[in-house]
Amino acid sequence: MGFFRDWRRRRLLQRQPLPAAPWQALCDAVPLLAALDGEERERLRARATVFLAEKTVHGVQGLELDEEQRRLIAALATLPILNLDDDWYGDFYEVIVYPDEFIPRHEVEDEHGLVHERHLPLSGESWPRGPVILSWADIEASLELNGYNVVIHEFAHKLDMHNGDANGMPPLHRDMAPAAWAERFTAAYDQLNFDLDAGRDTFIDPYAGEDPAEFFAVLSEAFFELPGDLRQAFPGVYEQLCAFYRQDPSTRALAR
Ligand code: ZN
Repeated sequence: MGFFRDWRRRRLLQRQPLPAAPWQALCDAVPLLAALDGEERERLRARATVFLAEKTVHGVQGLELDEEQRRLIAALATLPILNLDDDWYGDFYEVIVYPDEFIPRHEVEDEHGLVHERHLPLSGESWPRGPVILSWADIEASLELNGYNVVIHEFAHKLDMHNGDANGMPPLHRDMAPAAWAERFTAAYDQLNFDLDAGRDTFIDPYAGEDPAEFFAVLSEAFFELPGDLRQAFPGVYEQLCAFYRQDPSTRALAR
């Protein structure tokens, strides 16, 4: 299976990569992507090509997504796996996009281990081995470099859920030490909650203090959008995120 899948992906990338000109236009238009160098843009294009070939990305409630919108979603969704592997997203096949924030039909949060967001109505939701659900209005609100990015947030939950329920620790690479991850994330989580309890302003969305899974997802948003601030606030966590994502966004020229 693995061999056939790899062959199919290689053939896809040779024959039908996402068209180059609109891809470059998309990267130029989105500050997060404009900061990528040429090699990274090409690698991301390959990831986004595989993503769109292997998943359905569709609107509901009357929202019809065009190619440009689907490419944007794919580009933001695959930025976290730019230097990982397509298979990190291999256990689900559907991305559902609401026009705006939405009210889910289910009411019990933890029965299925799913994670949903920011109270009701929701901007996004991720199901273990199931779909990612997003709000288009929130995707559009994610394009500024301010630490809010619903797509990165939901796909960080997906990475976290790769080894079971979301708990704030995705499966780490062999060269990483789980004890170091746990120690640094716990210290940072406690510090953030201490600051929030004391009424201090933090550049990190207070939603990060909700639980360790949200902490990982919100810090992933900051990692890509505000890497300098995150590195300064939580250097140990920043280092762990660099090791996990195998990229260092602080080296990019992110123009705010
Ligand atoms: Zn979340």
